[in-house]
Amino acid sequence: MSMEGLVIAHLGQSIAVEHENKIILCQPLRRLETVAVGDKVSWSLTAPDQGRIEAVLPRRSLLARPARNNKVRPVAANIDKVFVVIAVEPYCDFLLIDQYLAVCENNQIDVALILNKIDLVQSETIEKELLVYQCLDYQVHRVSSITGLGLAELKLALQNEVSLLAGQSGVGKSSITNVMVPDRNLKTNSVSETTKHGRHTTTTATLYHIDTGGDLIDSPGVAIFGLADLDIQQLAQGYREFQPLSGNCQFNDCRHHHDKGCAVRAAAENGNITMTRYQRFLKLTQKMGH
Ligand code: GDP
Ligand code: ZN
Repeated sequence: MSMEGLVIAHLGQSIAVEHENKIILCQPLRRLETVAVGDKVSWSLTAPDQGRIEAVLPRRSLLARPARNNKVRPVAANIDKVFVVIAVEPYCDFLLIDQYLAVCENNQIDVALILNKIDLVQSETIEKELLVYQCLDYQVHRVSSITGLGLAELKLALQNEVSLLAGQSGVGKSSITNVMVPDRNLKTNSVSETTKHGRHTTTTATLYHIDTGGDLIDSPGVAIFGLADLDIQQLAQGYREFQPLSGNCQFNDCRHHHDKGCAVRAAAENGNITMTRYQRFLKLTQKMGH
């Protein structure tokens, strides 16, 4: 008999599926790599506490990362919202923020920013750039995982949704996750234990339930997800302020570089859109090899 379950962890050799508050270790019918944390699956029991995944149910979103042989590997599915975590230390990488925003915009995933470590002396440049993002309707949560400032509001923002924290190493993603999921280590152990191998099992990603509602996917693998297979037009789609303009470009395959009659470039030069964001767009296109 097949049942529906939720993939909460991708372990080394198997997949942890949650079903009615129990964790069942499953093997997929096809390859392990085709199943991602956050996936809803149909599965059936093969032995006590062991099962087989028969099918992955349709996803509402998917984040993938490049893998060998020009393939992409799904890492987290059904994410509603990505929170890009930044801080004054390590200093904020705005190119990376824009890259995350572009990927999310192209995957129909909601995206917001978290400025962590507000207990430290702040930077005027970061404040200025954050204002730009806020004007583009991106939410900015200001928190300190050390003093607890802003964390109650953040917990509310995580309710009823599946979220993922993205960002450079050292900005405080684990610290924030620990506050949102205080019994995280306990849960990690219970997932490892079900494997019945004495050794520690490495997980690529884990989904945690937050006590006040909502799920948080903790994934070192997607902490820095790349531009994957975005093309230049899709990257431009990731810049919200370009949208009302790109229709006015002289050519409809405009790359918004030095193309003749480019309305986006003109707007950046006139100050109608922010030059720093436009310049980062150009930089990202270079990075993509265009
Ligand atoms: P991750 O690599 O993004 O998961 O970052 P971590 O959670 O491991 O945090 C990196 C470092 O930043 C650790 O030394 C934390 O103690 C520190 N840290 C995290 N949050 C804050 C904060 O709000 N304020 C300050 N001052 N330090 C923090
Ligand atoms: Zn253009």
